[in-house]
Amino acid sequence: MAQTSLKKFKKGEIIFKTGDEGDCAYIIDIGRVQIYGENFGVEVPINTLGPGEIFGEMAILDRSGRSASAKALEDVQVSVVSRLQFEQRMDQADPIVRLLVSILLKRMRNNLGQSKDDLDSEINEQKKIEQEQNHSKVIEKIKFEAELFEALANNAFLLYFQPIIHTATNRTVGFEALIRWQSDSRGMVRPDLFMGVAEETSLITPIGKWVFEKACECLKQFQDHLKKIAPQAHDFFVTVNISGKQFSDINFFHMLEVTPAKYGVKEKNIKLEITEKILLEGNIFFYWIEKCRSLGFPVSLDDFGTGYSMLSYLSDFNVDNLKIDQSFIRKIEQDHKTRIIVQAIINIAKGLDIEVVSEGVETEKQARILKDLGCDYFQGYYFGRPMPFADAIKFLDNTCL
Ligand code: C2E
Ligand code: CA
Ligand code: CA
Repeated sequence: MAQTSLKKFKKGEIIFKTGDEGDCAYIIDIGRVQIYGENFGVEVPINTLGPGEIFGEMAILDRSGRSASAKALEDVQVSVVSRLQFEQRMDQADPIVRLLVSILLKRMRNNLGQSKDDLDSEINEQKKIEQEQNHSKVIEKIKFEAELFEALANNAFLLYFQPIIHTATNRTVGFEALIRWQSDSRGMVRPDLFMGVAEETSLITPIGKWVFEKACECLKQFQDHLKKIAPQAHDFFVTVNISGKQFSDINFFHMLEVTPAKYGVKEKNIKLEITEKILLEGNIFFYWIEKCRSLGFPVSLDDFGTGYSMLSYLSDFNVDNLKIDQSFIRKIEQDHKTRIIVQAIINIAKGLDIEVVSEGVETEKQARILKDLGCDYFQGYYFGRPMPFADAIKFLDNTCL
């Protein structure tokens, strides 16, 4: 791997000339450097740079020749930044950043009177097509992000609620809150299509906050409604999905602390769902889970069984619930091995005092098998699809009594 190296130039020495091939940029450590542009074949000074400043960066960004000349005005020492170092970073950069850098460069070169035709002619047709396709994908993504920002500003998100059923009593004991985006142009958008984008940007923080507040507000209304029709259902709960990215927001725990009281609900009735996969990202999540639990929120491990080391970390920290992933439930009727695995998960959970929810229950037979295996709660289309708030209230009238 290339490292930054030092180079020295004597006063008056040419560092590079217009048109030279450029495979590195320079950061000035000592001395001053004069940059010259070319105007009708005449060299004109365009900038004088000193210690800490960078030059020669354009060639490493777009692989074309030097667009200016550089000369040492006095004895100069520079640190050399290789193209490799830059390319490694660029490869890791967000595609939107990459696109913006390339557009910016194209504009700068055009302003300098340097058409990119020379370079473009070297790029074969196929490569050009690929570049264009890639650009339009990135542009589509930027537009999608802009729409998401607007959706937040225009209150275009909704919470849907999917019932969670107690296997022993067949009663609805809670709802999972699931976000929807009601878009004018795209219709009702499901979260798997936009929450990933929200996580890549800062949007996950305000969207996550909106979900949490809305879920608390609706929980209060569910509980008030149940007081009238089913006073025994005093521990009715909602579950809220929390993205791993939300934990690193400095205001996240403050939000957890203040919001339940604001809406008159209790922490123990708000279950936080985190996907099993985030645990693979590091020990910090163990600490964060413990912090949520110490604030009084039950924590549920979502999509259980889709990670890679599920059993080992159950001994490393405490959770209150686990949700067996739909992929197991889908196969449980036909596949004997899946049944044995689910039985084992339920046995381990029972031994550790963890309640088990089966997600994605679509048939009566699946429900029967899961109940026989000792599952505590069901969730799935067989019992109820995610629905708007008003339908969820009506749903309670039939299933909570
Ligand atoms: P999830 O947390 O695993 O949510 C369960 C998903 O399974 C929901 O999809 C639900 O509609 C679907 N589902 C439930 N029962 C059945 C069934 O019987 N059959 C089938 N085929 N599907 C069923 P949805 O609402 O599209 O949500 C997808 C994912 O988006 C969620 O998966 C969750 O990871 C994420 N998500 C949803 N709302 C939020 C949110 O407010 N915040 C965050 N961070 N993520 C959310
Ligand atoms: Ca979930
Ligand atoms: Ca799930």
